[in-house]
Amino acid sequence: MPTATTSFATDADLLAAIQPSSGGRDIHDPATGELVGRAPEHTVADLERAVSAARAAQPAWAALTHAERSAALNRAADAVEANAEALAVLLSREQGKPLNGPNARFEVGACAAWLRATAGFELEPEVLVDDEGGRAEMHYRPLGVVGAIGPWNWPMMISVWQLAPALRMGNTVVLKPSEYTPLSVLALVEVINGVLPADVLHVVSGGREVGEALSAHKNVDKLMFTGSTATGKAIIRSSADTVKRLTMELGGNDAGIVLPDADPKAIAADLFWGAFINTGQTCAALKRLYVHEDIYEEVCTALTEVAAQMPMGVGLDEANVLGPLQNKAQFDIVADLVKAATDSGARVLAGANPESGQPGYFYPTTLIADIDNDNPLVAEEQFGPALPIIKYSSVDEAVAMANGLDVGLGASVWSSDKEAAREVAARIQAGTVWINKHGAVDPRVPFGGAKASGYGLEFGVAGLKHLGQPQVISY
Ligand code: NAD
Repeated sequence: MPTATTSFATDADLLAAIQPSSGGRDIHDPATGELVGRAPEHTVADLERAVSAARAAQPAWAALTHAERSAALNRAADAVEANAEALAVLLSREQGKPLNGPNARFEVGACAAWLRATAGFELEPEVLVDDEGGRAEMHYRPLGVVGAIGPWNWPMMISVWQLAPALRMGNTVVLKPSEYTPLSVLALVEVINGVLPADVLHVVSGGREVGEALSAHKNVDKLMFTGSTATGKAIIRSSADTVKRLTMELGGNDAGIVLPDADPKAIAADLFWGAFINTGQTCAALKRLYVHEDIYEEVCTALTEVAAQMPMGVGLDEANVLGPLQNKAQFDIVADLVKAATDSGARVLAGANPESGQPGYFYPTTLIADIDNDNPLVAEEQFGPALPIIKYSSVDEAVAMANGLDVGLGASVWSSDKEAAREVAARIQAGTVWINKHGAVDPRVPFGGAKASGYGLEFGVAGLKHLGQPQVISY
């Protein structure tokens, strides 16, 4: 197994390693429109080669012990750390997110942290029954080849969420990154593959047709998907004939409920980052904020003050903590939803008027008050820097509004009384409910959606089990 970490001094060195010698698809910086690099245009034939090679490599990888595979994941974490700045610069240029704030450097750091945490989990066979009648044990065996399809918002981190537990459990992996952010994933895999055995980890940089072929592939045993609910449904359909295992991390429209006893000034910065992390392009970001009428104006004022202090601009400028939308389609979604809100007479606290004539897809940090719960900006996932703030008068009403949509990824309750907040949290239909924070994921704590936000769990020992075939041995 290779153990030497390759060092790439700059993003240009990384690009030189991953770009095709000629041709490929141009990738532009969403902040400036400048050319970042060229991505290979892999086809379904390339996917076939990758799946065959991953299949051939899998038995030897599965034959290693957990300790040996964990050591490989720790070496992968070392390799990511050794190349952290070059990776962060490339990620910033391709995705648009700034280097600073909870953005590009943070994402690369999370990749290393998740690799190490996933290497460290203990997974022993579980003794289910052991008495005079007999013994039954639960084991988790490798599944085989795992396909992983990812989105463009956190391309490196989500790839690690998929590949780390899959590899740890003795599977080999074929990744299919978003066509908007292939370079980030190709670069990450280039770095990690420097310390993994050949063919254990592949990346196929293709479009939707490659994703469809991966979902339907008879030699792929499990598919991990992170992306929109609409695409998730298509994948469930195209995977059906193979009965492959699925983990579905889909879209959300997370509600936050601020109870009347919360301290508006104390919670404002955490509310802001709960909503605007990665400029709002985050699955489990706060996307609808319900505030009790007693403190509604105070919360609106405190949030507006925090928003005014957060510079937005080109990612490589060290001062910025907010960036552009990653692509024009997402910019248009946000602009249309905010227009629907302002057309309805909702009150603009901040933002809402993008400057025309700029090269990048910048949409200003937008806060919208006095908005109805059925307005499209509330009812649909905006996935961008525009937060609707809805007034409520009773907690029952707030809980009903929070539960009123068909998605349920995350949610949050904000209060000075943790017990009161826990009682409200228990009534919310979401995979995770945070108290006095939002979106704080942890590699040790399982994460997954309720309702149309998906099924299956990632992270922690529960996440490892979703990458294994449960097998009972009974005697
Ligand atoms: P998307 O669904 O448009 O695309 C995701 C991936 O699916 C891309 O790689 C794309 O090429 C591929 N794809 C598209 N059509 C396909 C098909 N028919 N078969 C197979 N693959 C196909 O999602 P996106 O716009 O990249 O990401 C944004 C969405 O992802 C948001 O809804 C967000 O909430 C969600 N998301 C969820 C999580 C989570 O953990 N639950 C995390 C991040 C993002």
